[in-house]
Amino acid sequence: MIGAVDIGGTKIAVGVVDDNGKVLSRMEAPTDPNRYSDGIELIAHMLRKTAQRAETELTGIGIGSTGPVDPLRGEFGDVDFLPGWRGKSPVKDLAQIFSVSVALENDGDAAALAEAGWGAGRNRSRLIYVTVGTGIGGGIVFDGQLYRGVAGAHPEVGHHVVDPAGPKCSCGFHGCWESLAAGPAMVAWFAGNAPTGYPHRNGITARRICELAQEGDAIALRAVEHESYYLGLGLANLINLFTPDAIVLSGSVMKSAELFMDRIREVIRQGCRFVPAEKTQLTLASLGEDTNLIGAARVWHYRFAK
Ligand SMILES: [Zn+2]
Repeated sequence: MIGAVDIGGTKIAVGVVDDNGKVLSRMEAPTDPNRYSDGIELIAHMLRKTAQRAETELTGIGIGSTGPVDPLRGEFGDVDFLPGWRGKSPVKDLAQIFSVSVALENDGDAAALAEAGWGAGRNRSRLIYVTVGTGIGGGIVFDGQLYRGVAGAHPEVGHHVVDPAGPKCSCGFHGCWESLAAGPAMVAWFAGNAPTGYPHRNGITARRICELAQEGDAIALRAVEHESYYLGLGLANLINLFTPDAIVLSGSVMKSAELFMDRIREVIRQGCRFVPAEKTQLTLASLGEDTNLIGAARVWHYRFAK
């Protein structure tokens, strides 16, 4: 029974996950971005509580965290929105509190490992996991091994440029995939293109745009077309670069995947003529809402159970 800790910028989810990737108990709390010591105490408290509810003892702890993290040292890096957590080691601290082995990975890598081991990516040798929500992130797993860059770095699949004339991105470039195809990009397009006085303009969200598109709303359908095109471009780039067996799609925007998939496949067909793009399966993540939490548990298995 593994204690799983999923640390995001706004909330921390903690749970107990069994050897088959099943969540036995879970709870969550808001993240305090400044005080690390309170944060680690809260995590320890939630781990004890969830273990108690699952009537079990923890044999290890896995952590998936919003990045950047140093997985090999088990420390947080320069996490913009968790300033008080920089350089701290939850691996060392939780190992000391619980006397079990602890492992840490970036949350995109954690989710990729979960889908590769327990989810839609099972039995695929070359797998790319992509999550599309308020940003675009992911992880790459080849032959069961998590792909790590130099010094253990996590590759940023959301930050390749698809249009240098596009909007400015937090990474420093203009027109990254994330800046053109994440949920906020769809909202920005909608806000910029819906005529004044259009009834659904105020407080529009990516989710609402998808609902409106399903109801046949003309502007929402154009927003979806725009979104699908840019999703397709980024996925086509990943296919041209890596020719993976499968790309597993996840995240809040992908809950409406049926709106985008036909156009995405068309874009890929147009631009991936030198690789067998039709052999790359585009598939939806199968672990649901708890993918990141299950991923955190999988991080422990990946590090210690091999
Ligand atoms: Zn960027």
